[in-house]
Amino acid sequence: MKPDVRILVVDDSRPMREFIVQIIASREGFVTLEASDGAEGLEMALADPPDLILLDMEMPRLNGFQVVDALRAQQANIPIILITSHGSEAIAVEVFRKGVKDYLIKPFTAEEMYAAIERALTEVRLRREKEALTQHLTAANQQLRRRVQELDTLYRVGKSVTSLLSRDQLLERILDAVFYVIGAEEAALMLMDEESGTLRTELHRQRVSGELHQLAHRSAEELASDAARKEHATATGAMLSAPLKVGNRVIGALGVGNRVSTRPFSGHDRQLLRALADYAAIAIENARLYEKVRQADRAKSEFVSFMAHELRTPMTSIRGYADLLAKGTVGPLTPQQEEFVCTILSNAERMQVLVSDLRDISRIEMGQLRLEVKPVRLAESLENGPQATRGQIEARSQQLTVEVPENLPLVHADPARLAQILINLLSNAYKYTPEGGHIRVRAWLQDGHVHCAVSDTGVGISPEDRARLFTKFFRSEDPAVQEMPGTGLGLCIVRSLVELQGGEIEVESQPGRGTTFAFTVPVATTE
Ligand code: ADP
Repeated sequence: MKPDVRILVVDDSRPMREFIVQIIASREGFVTLEASDGAEGLEMALADPPDLILLDMEMPRLNGFQVVDALRAQQANIPIILITSHGSEAIAVEVFRKGVKDYLIKPFTAEEMYAAIERALTEVRLRREKEALTQHLTAANQQLRRRVQELDTLYRVGKSVTSLLSRDQLLERILDAVFYVIGAEEAALMLMDEESGTLRTELHRQRVSGELHQLAHRSAEELASDAARKEHATATGAMLSAPLKVGNRVIGALGVGNRVSTRPFSGHDRQLLRALADYAAIAIENARLYEKVRQADRAKSEFVSFMAHELRTPMTSIRGYADLLAKGTVGPLTPQQEEFVCTILSNAERMQVLVSDLRDISRIEMGQLRLEVKPVRLAESLENGPQATRGQIEARSQQLTVEVPENLPLVHADPARLAQILINLLSNAYKYTPEGGHIRVRAWLQDGHVHCAVSDTGVGISPEDRARLFTKFFRSEDPAVQEMPGTGLGLCIVRSLVELQGGEIEVESQPGRGTTFAFTVPVATTE
């Protein structure tokens, strides 16, 4: 039922008041209040604002205009119809200037008065409807904003949870997220033990006045375990839980409780917990798979390292004996035997490179490669590198130039590894440069690092190949590359060695024109 419209009649003439009240009372839905002068009318209007005021103009104490002014001064925005005995243009202008809705000139008929009231009230009604709509809209807006905020929070929580791969850290983060998203007093996370098929409590925390405590009692856990058995979310009073599922497999459960306040959880809380449980399940499964992959990777690296080590002895023996044969130590060889022994020797050498590369890679992957870093003269390594590859470079009729300034400072590096980096880059340079090409080695000091570059005028590297250049076993499909022996491990090792020494490596190349690999080594500090 609509509430009655309250009209305050302010008039010092009693007969006039009675006349007005009578007219109004004859219609349904109106209630009248009466004041016998301006001051009383003002007081009543301010104490309990009516919907409309019928205000006489001429009154003792306060006249009509004074009441209007006083009401406006108090910000009381009540619609007013002024009743006056002087009809004039001047009054009309003054009345509307003061924001009065309408005015009636005495004497007036019941119809005239009623029409004026209707006009003023229509405006009031419209304004009220507008206010109600605005309120409704504001509430809807607030609700929407809250929802967007929740979704945003869930999204961020989901992202932060699914990006974690350390299991213990992850479980902690999930419970943090549960507390953050659902204002629960306690929360538990349980995981299914794969072997026994039973649920085990991984974490159970209670928040009391903002602090988290381990709990002695187990009801949130019991509830969580119930949820996992039933494979759906359940709620009992101030408890709520949701299963952690990967596909159709239940891997655990999340439970929250409000046992102290007994504040019941809403359907909305249930939805949030479910959404969180979905994220958590994926993240936990990811962490589990990641751990398995890591274990498998480690086992592989250990195996490769072991095999590489075991192969060293037979390799040394094959090379040693082949070498003795080649040198004629055990008697002269026929030209054919000599050719065969040469083939054995060169293949044994290739195998030795492969074995040593595999050993390095597996140590790098296991984080077990130790460098013996000390202040080193780069020029020495720059001499040893070309020395080791000089034979091959000459065999391919390539020209080698080495440009190293005399006054280069000492660098902080492992000399053997530095030579390995250079030999690797130089080997690639002569392998992937046609006969008669040019290979150039330069070094210079810049920004606290010694820079070293190996350039060639070879086949170059396409942009697609460049993107995969430092990955394990990568070799270009280019026939000029394929015809040369190689394992695709060299650059991967080179990059790790450069970085382990605190440097960086980069490549510039133009297909068909040549390639430059440039790396940095930190200058040795003098302490
Ligand atoms: P490998 O030389 O044993 O194949 P690397 O890891 O040293 O292995 O090099 C990987 C690949 O990068 C090479 O197979 C080749 O495709 C490309 N590459 C490396 N250095 C050069 C170079 N100087 N010029 C052209 N291509 C190169």
